[in-house]
Amino acid sequence: MLPIFRSSYDAIVVGSGPGGASTARELARSGMRVLVLEQGGADPLKGTVTQMAAMAAVPGKGAYLHRDASLLVAGITAGGSSAINFATAAPPPAALFARYGIDLEPALAQLRAELPLAPLPDDLVGPMAARMMVAAQSLSLDWRKLDKMIRPQSCRAGCWRCVYGCPFGAKWTARDFLNEACRHGAQLVERARVLRVLVQEGRAAGVEVEVGGTLRSIAAPIVVLAGGGLGSPRLLHRSGLGPRESPFFSDPVVAVMGSVDDIDGGAEVPMAAGLHLHDEGVALADLTLPRPMYQAFALQVGRVDRLFAHGRTLSMMVKIRDAIGGRIGPRWADKTLQDSDRRKLQHGVGMATSILRAAGAHHIFQSWHFAAHPGGSVRIGAGVDADLQMPTQGLFVCDASVIPEPWGLPPTLTLLCLGKRLGAWLGNAR
Ligand SMILES: Cc1cc2nc3c(=O)[nH]c(=O)nc-3n(C[C@H](O)[C@H](O)[C@H](O)COP(=O)(O)OP(=O)(O)OC[C@H]3O[C@@H](n4cnc5c(N)ncnc54)[C@H](O)[C@@H]3O)c2cc1C
Repeated sequence: MLPIFRSSYDAIVVGSGPGGASTARELARSGMRVLVLEQGGADPLKGTVTQMAAMAAVPGKGAYLHRDASLLVAGITAGGSSAINFATAAPPPAALFARYGIDLEPALAQLRAELPLAPLPDDLVGPMAARMMVAAQSLSLDWRKLDKMIRPQSCRAGCWRCVYGCPFGAKWTARDFLNEACRHGAQLVERARVLRVLVQEGRAAGVEVEVGGTLRSIAAPIVVLAGGGLGSPRLLHRSGLGPRESPFFSDPVVAVMGSVDDIDGGAEVPMAAGLHLHDEGVALADLTLPRPMYQAFALQVGRVDRLFAHGRTLSMMVKIRDAIGGRIGPRWADKTLQDSDRRKLQHGVGMATSILRAAGAHHIFQSWHFAAHPGGSVRIGAGVDADLQMPTQGLFVCDASVIPEPWGLPPTLTLLCLGKRLGAWLGNAR
């Protein structure tokens, strides 16, 4: 059935990930009539591999085909990638945003009061994460529990389903803010793919959207693009408002894995603890993933001998802050690593190997690189100004694409802050 659109809107938000949901919530709270258009579905999260596979896009060029391919994972669903992310939180780097005249501290202070934001209690830290933490600390590394956006009272020890989309409401996702926006009067239309932004006399005038096989033009004086680090630059290009190809960062990750003889596990919340080496642009954390994902890693690198060792294998994430480069094209993204990126990954893999050895692991191997944080493609100071506005008045971008510099951090909390700041500013400006 086709959705019934209202006769008019004050603002249209395209995309419902952390940036879009946070903006929409703030706009709706201020009394604006808000329409959120999301190309994915909004079915309840079930925590199954089938549902996860259906909503996780793999948009990289040459994905799976060779070790230098750009395998990029992204959630195409209500809540965007937050529906399938690992719920690790890091505050926005104040000094970086200060360089662009942006203060996210007020938004962060308010969000701290609203979000579940704390390290996991000890009973929810799995045995594999605990083993890697002890091993890292035995090497005098500053390995600590990480802040998680998880409600411990609803989370279950020995469970991994948050990785596929937590069905128990334990993991915070942008759907929480989306629901709140709707309670304040916003309208969410799922399976609605925005094709282009409409501009009249140099101002944003609305969007053209495909929904239920039908094209519709919907008017609003404010349009906020929140289609993510890949989606927003593509939409700008299709609208004749941005370049055909945009360079970006992706925060590439390699999983380093090794077997131990005295743990039989494999079901726990990933990224319970880790280490961030800011100056080196390298971050490490435990990364225990469900069996099918582990097996995909083992198969990818031909380690058939490790295929059935999931329950005994410690997995560690090595993530780097990569240089902005590569290209997001109309249908693909290419993030072939530069030499400096490879050196960082090599350094991190060396550290991970030492920690796994200290944990008693053997048969150590690593995956190819993949990435889940595409961003920096419509940067503050280049594509948008410090208010996140494009040169086209009334057109804003609020998602990972506006992050102005190479990154290397969990982006969600920063995007929530940016959305809160933008929504409050637009709400006050009415
Ligand atoms: C497996 C995985 C693990 C991760 N772990 C963490 C973590 O632990 N901590 C952390 O902070 N971050 C993590 N991330 C990254 C984080 O989830 C993303 O950086 C964040 O969700 C990006 O938010 P966004 O607002 O840019 O939009 P996205 O989350 O990318 O959402 C964009 C939305 O816009 C929709 N859209 C795009 N184009 C259109 C269009 N034309 N019309 C309509 N809708 C459109 C998409 O369907 C999508 O739902 C992880 C990501 C993945 C995939």
